[in-house]
Amino acid sequence: MLSVKNIQKSFAQNIVLEHISFEVADGEFVSLLGPSGCGKTTLLRIIAGLEKADHGCINLNNRDITDLEPSERDISMVFQSYALYPHKSVYENIAFPLRMRAPAVTRIPLFGRFTSTAQALEQDISQKVPQVAKSLRLDGLLQRKPGELSGGQKQRVALARALIRNPKLFLMDEPLSNLDAKLRMQTRMEISNLHHQTKGTFLYVTHDQVEAMTMSDRIVLLNGGKIQQVGTPLELYDNPVNLFTAEFLGQPKINVFNCVFKDYSLQVAGIHKNLTAPNLKQLDLLKQKAKKVAFRPEAIHICPQGQQPDLMAEFSQAEEVGSESLLKFSVGDETFSIRSAVTDRYRRFSFKEGENVPIVFEWNDALFFDKDGNRILAEAFL
Ligand code: ATP
Repeated sequence: MLSVKNIQKSFAQNIVLEHISFEVADGEFVSLLGPSGCGKTTLLRIIAGLEKADHGCINLNNRDITDLEPSERDISMVFQSYALYPHKSVYENIAFPLRMRAPAVTRIPLFGRFTSTAQALEQDISQKVPQVAKSLRLDGLLQRKPGELSGGQKQRVALARALIRNPKLFLMDEPLSNLDAKLRMQTRMEISNLHHQTKGTFLYVTHDQVEAMTMSDRIVLLNGGKIQQVGTPLELYDNPVNLFTAEFLGQPKINVFNCVFKDYSLQVAGIHKNLTAPNLKQLDLLKQKAKKVAFRPEAIHICPQGQQPDLMAEFSQAEEVGSESLLKFSVGDETFSIRSAVTDRYRRFSFKEGENVPIVFEWNDALFFDKDGNRILAEAFL
C-alpha cells in the first residue's frame, strides 16, 4: 500500500501542494486528476523521489521511503515524453531496467559478460522481454529503434519498460497525451488490461476527466495544490462535495443556476417551485445558505406531451454526437444543456433557434451549494 501523509511543497514563495494525504491500496488504480498547474506532476515526482517535499512522509508497503533515492524505492515511472534511449533497440530499451539493477560484476568491461551472473541475467532478459513485448503487441518490433516507431508504439515500449521489473508501484504521468484520439482510446484500454493482468498498484496522472472516470478504481481530485475530493468515479460524479468537483466531472458540464429559497418555495430560472413536504430544519439551512442549484444534463428533460412543464426555455443550439444530442437552451440570463439520447432515429428532437420548448427538471436530483461553492447536504423535498 502507498500512503502519502501531509505532503507540502513550495517553489520559492509559490505554495504548490498543501496538506496532501491519501492512500492507494495494493492492486488499486488511482488517478490524480485536476486542471493544468494544480500540482499533479510535482506530487508524482515527490512520490518517485525526483523532487523533495518540504514536509510530509511517504510509505510504501510499510517502509518509509520519504528520503530514499529514486532507485531504492521499487517504483517504475512512465512519462508523457516516453523517455526512450534513441540509439538502443526496442529490445534493449525494455531490458534496460533489468540490466541497471543487475550486480555490478556484470558491467565490468570485457570480463563481466562471461561471468555466470551475467549469463543468468541474459537468460532472464531473453525470457522476460519477449513476454512483456507480446502483452503489449510489440513482438514484431523488437529490433527497431525508437525513431522507427509511431507515437503509440513508443508509448507501449515505455509501458513495457516499466512493467518488466514488476515493481511495487507504477507511476504514470499523462502517458496518453501525445497520442491522437483513436490511439488514446486504444492505449487507455491497454493500460486497463495491463492493470487487470498484473494486478499492480497504479497511480496515474491526468487532466482528462474521461480518462480518470473510465480507468480508475478511485480518483484523487486536486485543484490549486489541494485535494478537493477522493472517491470512486461515481461517488465524485453523483455526490460532489463542492461546485469545483461537480463542474470538473461530467461532459457536458453540470448546469448551475442561481437560486433563492423564499417561504415554502425555491426560486430558480424564473420558476417558483413549491416545496411539497419541506423539512423545516433543512429548509432553514437552505434559506440561509443556498446560493446555487445544479442539475446534471440528464436531470433536465424536454417535457413529455400531457405533462405540466416546469418552464418554457428558448432553444439555441444542438450538438449531434449521433447516438445522442446535446441541446442548449436559455431562460432569462441562465443557460443550460440537456443530453437527449436517440432511442429511435425517427424521434430525434429538432427545434428551430429561438423556439420556446417545454422543460421539466428532476427536482430530486438537485444539488445545492453555498456562496463558497461548498455542497449543502440538505434535501428540499421538491
Ligand atoms: P500540467 O497538467 O500542466 O502538467 P500539473 O498539475 O502537473 O500541470 P505541476 O507541473 O505539478 O502541475 O506544477 C504545479 C505548479 O508548480 C505550477 O504552478 C508550476 O508552474 C509550478 N512548478 C512546477 N515545477 C516547478 C519548478 N521546478 N520551479 C518552479 N515552479 C514549478
